[in-house]
Amino acid sequence: MLEKMEEFKAEKVIEEFEELTKDAGRVQRETLKKILEDNASAEYLQKQGLNGRTDPESYQACVPLVTHADLVPYIKRIADGDTSPVLTGKPIKTMSLSSGTTQGKQKYVPFNDELLETTLQIYRTSFAFRNREFPVRNGMALQFIYGSKQFKTEGGLFAGTATTNVFSSSQFKTTMKAIESPCCSPDEVIFGPDFRQSLYCHLLCGLIHHNEIQLVSSTFAHSIVYAFRTFEQVWEQLCADIQDGVLTKDVTVPSIRAVMSKLLKPNPELAEWIYKKCSGLSNWYGVIPALFPNVKYVYGIMTGSMEPYLKKLRHYAGDVPLLSADYGSSEGWIGANINPKLPPELATYAVLPNIGYFEFIPLRGSAEEDRQDKIQSSFESKPVGLTEVKIGEEYEIIVTNFAGLYRYRLGDVVKIAGFHNMTPELQFVCRRNLLLTINIDKNTEKDLQLAVEAAAEVLAPEKVEVIDFTSQVDKSTDPGHYVIFWEISGEVSVEVSSECCNCLDRSFVDAGYISSRKVNSIGPLELKLVRRGTFQKILDHYLGIGGVLSQYKTPRCVNPNNNMVLQILYSNVVKSHFSTAFG
Ligand code: AMP
Repeated sequence: MLEKMEEFKAEKVIEEFEELTKDAGRVQRETLKKILEDNASAEYLQKQGLNGRTDPESYQACVPLVTHADLVPYIKRIADGDTSPVLTGKPIKTMSLSSGTTQGKQKYVPFNDELLETTLQIYRTSFAFRNREFPVRNGMALQFIYGSKQFKTEGGLFAGTATTNVFSSSQFKTTMKAIESPCCSPDEVIFGPDFRQSLYCHLLCGLIHHNEIQLVSSTFAHSIVYAFRTFEQVWEQLCADIQDGVLTKDVTVPSIRAVMSKLLKPNPELAEWIYKKCSGLSNWYGVIPALFPNVKYVYGIMTGSMEPYLKKLRHYAGDVPLLSADYGSSEGWIGANINPKLPPELATYAVLPNIGYFEFIPLRGSAEEDRQDKIQSSFESKPVGLTEVKIGEEYEIIVTNFAGLYRYRLGDVVKIAGFHNMTPELQFVCRRNLLLTINIDKNTEKDLQLAVEAAAEVLAPEKVEVIDFTSQVDKSTDPGHYVIFWEISGEVSVEVSSECCNCLDRSFVDAGYISSRKVNSIGPLELKLVRRGTFQKILDHYLGIGGVLSQYKTPRCVNPNNNMVLQILYSNVVKSHFSTAFG
């Protein structure tokens, strides 16, 4: 084991990180120079008139800020098989397919070895810091990870979700072994064609290896909560399988059956042990440490749209710490969580200055009311460099990566929490796009989340919780109004649910919303309670159109054109209330 740790050389990783961040400004300039030199022959860059210049000032002056939509014509050519240098010097051979749950539709983004390497650098960096505080030794990880199908584009390029592209690389497995976190499930389970069967077998593999499991993880925290919600339903079947050493007939995929039959041996003692553990729990509190006594922490992205699941995750984890994973996207990684002791709500991400070139558009004015205006303003301040950001300020982040994205607007808002040496530590704030707006009101995903959290307090005395939520702007009424959909874990009286509705309406504190509500230019907020399992149907819908559980994020606002999701929601409404909060 010691040998393995020496192979990984955590101290060296930390030392390198310290070196890079001490001189973050210089490293950024060099990184930009390298990206521009490596890709100097790319048609996209040639058009920008840089003429060999690689300094940040010329770059900012010549190259425009872009969104994904601006790059679609280039990306399409690559996907269709154009092997000339379009966006990158070397041809792109793989595309990542973003899950599309944040922006509503799937999109291709170029993926290459450099992007894989930067992903692994992030994993190694955060592990080196994490392992100082929460050492794992010779362990295994119960990882709820799922590969999507990899397929070929028109032009014959490999395409899969970014996580699939990473999980299926040999370097990923080597790195996970080196950082003592190899997945306890075989590849056939991770890459199985049916995520429910994969999930069942992840749980089974975890139970078989229960003493060796040192961490429970997933890419986004939602998948862990989802897994243990499922466990609540299938635990007796899992016990039966372990007791008899025979996999349930419900798992039908031949490759999964074949691999699981090698792992599964009759083990009545283990089955009885699990049975006793589960029977001794109260409402599944602490199920994770009860079943996996050597687990050191629960790990996954827990900030942003994952925050609403933290309460449930804490419930399952009992006294096991929750550690937020890193910050990145299909377009590339950005920062590592090097302060693993911070609770997930306060997690920060230190930017690695050599994995891309980063710029920041200042958003936040001095007055809080100014904030939404700045976030939404079409007149924008000039972006600043990585080392020029200011503590406490909010910015939209702009990414230039090694895979053909130049000054790319990721659409995320981050806040500067502090600095590690010269590199900023970012807090994720929200997606920049507005979710809810009718006239002068402006509410983001974060505002919705805060309103839901406040209103969910009304349910707490009833021991009922919000399982998941989404929203819609309904302009079919005059005036238009917000509709919030809730799936809750139990029955509540009409008084309680109507109070939740009023509380939601009062909890949107945006000045534009409040003043519009007062004069009724926005109508009373509507709360619609939906049947249990409705959000499961929405998830199934996204998986059905090519999404993957590993990257799934519940859409927090449903676009009026998204008929399928609207139909699922509306056909499952069990109770509706209109707010009376504004008279
Ligand atoms: P995807 O399109 O599936 O690659 O998801 C990328 C998006 O997920 C990012 O642009 C963020 O909005 C969100 N995300 C990724 N990492 C984090 C994090 N640590 N905290 C909050 N949100 C994150």
